[in-house]
Amino acid sequence: SAKEKGRNHYEFFTEEMAVVAESRAELESELRLALEKGQFQLFYQPKRVMDSGRITGMEALLRWQHPTKGLISPDRFIPVAEETGLILPIGEWVLQTACAQTKSWQSMGMEHLRVAINVSARQLQEPNILDRVSRILQETGLAPDRLELEITESLLMRDVNHSIKVLHGFKSLGISIAVDDFGTGYSSLSYLKRLPIDVLKIDQSFVRDISSDPEDRAIIQAIISLAHALNLVAVAEGVETEEQEAFLLREDCQVMQGYLLGRPVPAEQFEALIAARAAGAP
Ligand code: C2E
Ligand code: MG
Ligand code: MG
Ligand code: MG
Repeated sequence: SAKEKGRNHYEFFTEEMAVVAESRAELESELRLALEKGQFQLFYQPKRVMDSGRITGMEALLRWQHPTKGLISPDRFIPVAEETGLILPIGEWVLQTACAQTKSWQSMGMEHLRVAINVSARQLQEPNILDRVSRILQETGLAPDRLELEITESLLMRDVNHSIKVLHGFKSLGISIAVDDFGTGYSSLSYLKRLPIDVLKIDQSFVRDISSDPEDRAIIQAIISLAHALNLVAVAEGVETEEQEAFLLREDCQVMQGYLLGRPVPAEQFEALIAARAAGAP
């Protein structure tokens, strides 16, 4: 930024920057409207436990069904939602919707399903985050042990002492914690010991090149060993090929998620998928 460059440097507000700024402000007001008009939608992506072959849960992934621009992926609007604080009401909607949906699937006979929900930095910093989450569990009737919160490694490390406090709060409610995108942040191993976590999600960047990159294979092996040594569940994300799956199975990774098993899909489609599986389809 201009500040970092020191006061002897000038930075000009270029036309290009103006365009970006304008579309940002536009994006912010559109995001506000999206919430009011119900343009957000959750997709669900299955996770499978390899030894049973069962779909034991799913990750809820946010989508924005924009009236003219179509389906917008979270990477394109979550950063702005975080900056503006809009992630708080949006995140609340996500928690509420995913917990209610999971409870309703359980009532249809899929009691074992556990839902994983992504939580952002701004949400963790909310002083009353524990009350909010526990109220949503009460209102939807979802048992706390059916909820897993996914928090990125870099976010957890940003303010470790605060993270430890909030995570202990979640744990005492009975909620599980997964470290998302593991291996891309800067965890000190001693922090891993202090954080009350249950799951390490191996970042998909390591999974992608399993067949061609021996270093990625070594990193995955190390993460899986670490998870087992600390009594954590290792989950691989971004599993797209049978070759990747076979390697992960050989290394004793218990849970997998990725396009090979299923892409994120709207609730009705996810329901059809698990119903078909329950009926014995492969
Ligand atoms: P994430 O939590 O790491 O989610 C995994 C991302 O990988 C998802 O992208 C998913 O669609 C994608 N993915 C899953 N399997 C595969 C695969 O086999 N191959 C490839 N190439 N990709 C795969 P998506 O849905 O675009 O979400 C991107 C990120 O946005 C998420 O990364 C998460 O950090 C964030 N996000 C999504 N929903 C929410 C939400 O409700 N709240 C917050 N705070 N963040 C969210
Ligand atoms: Mg995630
Ligand atoms: Mg991830
Ligand atoms: Mg990610």
